[in-house]
Amino acid sequence: MKQIGIIGAGTMGNGIAHICAINGYDVILVDLDKALLDKGLATILKNLNRQVAKGKITQEIMDKALRNIQMTTQMTDLSDADIVIEAATENPEIKDSIFRQMDEICKDGAILATNTSSISITKIASVTKRPHNVIGMHFMNPVPVMKLVEIIRGHLTDDATTTAVIDMTKRLGKSPVECNDYPGFVANRILLPMINEAVFCLMEGVAEAEAIDEIMKLGMAHPMGPLTLADLIGLDVCLAIMEVLHRDLGDSKYRPCPLLKKMVAAGTLGRKTGKGFYDYSK
Ligand code: NAD
Repeated sequence: MKQIGIIGAGTMGNGIAHICAINGYDVILVDLDKALLDKGLATILKNLNRQVAKGKITQEIMDKALRNIQMTTQMTDLSDADIVIEAATENPEIKDSIFRQMDEICKDGAILATNTSSISITKIASVTKRPHNVIGMHFMNPVPVMKLVEIIRGHLTDDATTTAVIDMTKRLGKSPVECNDYPGFVANRILLPMINEAVFCLMEGVAEAEAIDEIMKLGMAHPMGPLTLADLIGLDVCLAIMEVLHRDLGDSKYRPCPLLKKMVAAGTLGRKTGKGFYDYSK
């Protein structure tokens, strides 16, 4: 694989573009408008500079990485990509529409991967004529730092696609772990109910946000508390995942906390909007 298309230049898409570019792949980054692409590139630049300052990569690798990234608002520019990794908004209609278009645009044999946190890979694959080439590649946030990539096989994903994606993940310096296509896969099936329960604790006045996070950090040796992590993930993403777990597993234990819904309705989505459970405006 040489050329990688990435759809969505947000929190995850710019991180995926970053690691693909420093590992020598040609990257084509797609988003809806130039301002969103510029914002994604500014984050890549900031994170590359931080890696150079810390001595993790050389200035030469950074310069080369930047030359490896092209940006576009036209999905048709992905016609030569060997693999496209979709990292757009966590919304089934948006994903279906993107996969329908990619299936038309991309060359035969190109792999169509999705970074979805919770939407069924089998369902996404079903809108294409190449379900055997569709696979989940679930990177963790922040992408340049976190080692795990959950590799999720849809019901019809073939062995060649799975092997190619596992090999590529290793070339990116990440650790692939395979799992099957059930709601939330493994990481979010376990993580998100914990975050949701932390929001219930806050809503019910069991403890203040800082205390909830401190208890989970010191008591369970978690590197950050669940509310801090929710702010990092984005509360809209957290809510979307809980809604998928609730609907597709059909168990009331997955009902999203009303406080989480209220904060999303208010647009307080965490770090990306400057306010969530904590204030980032300064
Ligand atoms: P985000 O909101 O930060 O970014 C999404 C980007 O997709 C936006 O820039 C948006 O403009 C773009 N987009 C929307 N529709 C598009 C289209 N039709 N064509 C091109 N671009 C389009 O979201 P995010 O947090 O980066 O999440 C992206 C995906 O990654 C989601 O599926 C999410 O569930 C998954 N994910 C998120 C995290 C996390 O911690 N945030 C972790 C793992 C996986």
